[in-house]
Amino acid sequence: MRAAIFKGPGSVEVGERPDPVIQAPTDAIVRVALACVCGSDLWYYRGESPHAVGSIGHEFIGVVEDVGSDVQGVTAGVFVIAPFIYSDGTCPNCRNGSTISCLTGGTFGNGESDGGQGEAVRVPLADGTLVPVPGSGHSDELLRSLLTLSDVMCTGHHAAVSAGVHKGDTVAVVGDGAVGLSAVLASARLGAERIIALSRNPDRQRVAVNFGATDIVEARGEEANEAVLELTGGIGVDAALECVGAPQAISTAFAVARPGSTVGIVGVPHGDVPFETTFFRNVGWRGGPAPARIYIPDLLPDVLEGRINPGLVLDFETDLDGIAEAYKAMDERRAIKSLVRVGSL
Ligand SMILES: [Zn+2]
Repeated sequence: MRAAIFKGPGSVEVGERPDPVIQAPTDAIVRVALACVCGSDLWYYRGESPHAVGSIGHEFIGVVEDVGSDVQGVTAGVFVIAPFIYSDGTCPNCRNGSTISCLTGGTFGNGESDGGQGEAVRVPLADGTLVPVPGSGHSDELLRSLLTLSDVMCTGHHAAVSAGVHKGDTVAVVGDGAVGLSAVLASARLGAERIIALSRNPDRQRVAVNFGATDIVEARGEEANEAVLELTGGIGVDAALECVGAPQAISTAFAVARPGSTVGIVGVPHGDVPFETTFFRNVGWRGGPAPARIYIPDLLPDVLEGRINPGLVLDFETDLDGIAEAYKAMDERRAIKSLVRVGSL
């Protein structure tokens, strides 16, 4: 089969990989329809985090082609969303809602395991992992939004849930990438009344406003902190969502969080939490990788019924032949997020 191959920093190309086959009775083979490039793939692309040469990609939707003898939840022909990791759904961590820490789980596209950016994927622990999508004949717009449930929308939602966003809250979202924009949408969905989005890019500001942002702050660093504090009468926001992971973004999230609040962190950390200053203001933090498998069933009805349209973050598209351009466009910030059309439903 054809699949994206990570060859090293700055180099992702389409190549050949063995066709996946059922290896364990709990496996399913999924023929990929749509995939996308994650902001976290860029850490590898830029050489800032290590990645093995080989398969890459962990966000995909598609159709089940074959299942092992123990699989009961899905059958061939079923349209499914795959969360960005696989998990059994039965171990203590999964039952506690931390599918990301599944005792038997693992990752897609790590160089060896099939990646989402390819024609087909062997999905281990299919019953615990795959979420069937009801209905048929979904529009392309809807499919794009369903694709975001495999990672980015769940990750934005996790930022909001981790920070405890409630009805009527004032929220600040640090980061205008696809995750930050999804966090704006998730906050609006949870009933936030005021959503301050930090962005200096007009295209991203437009999506943020479309998703429910009420205020845009274009400043960065100290200036951004002061601007958000000014908008909140000097007190700070009820929930600050950190969706970047860079030191300045972490620092801003903590600076604008009001005393007694919780910062939701979903950016892969490349900086430190300011322990002492947060202690004396009773500010906490929660977050980490999103338990997408837990969130997909919560968010799915809102997508299917058109109440949210997270697919708007996918503003660049190509096919497997254009995979290098999909990465390049995001790396150069020409694209918020790249969609890769792999197959049909
Ligand atoms: Zn588990």
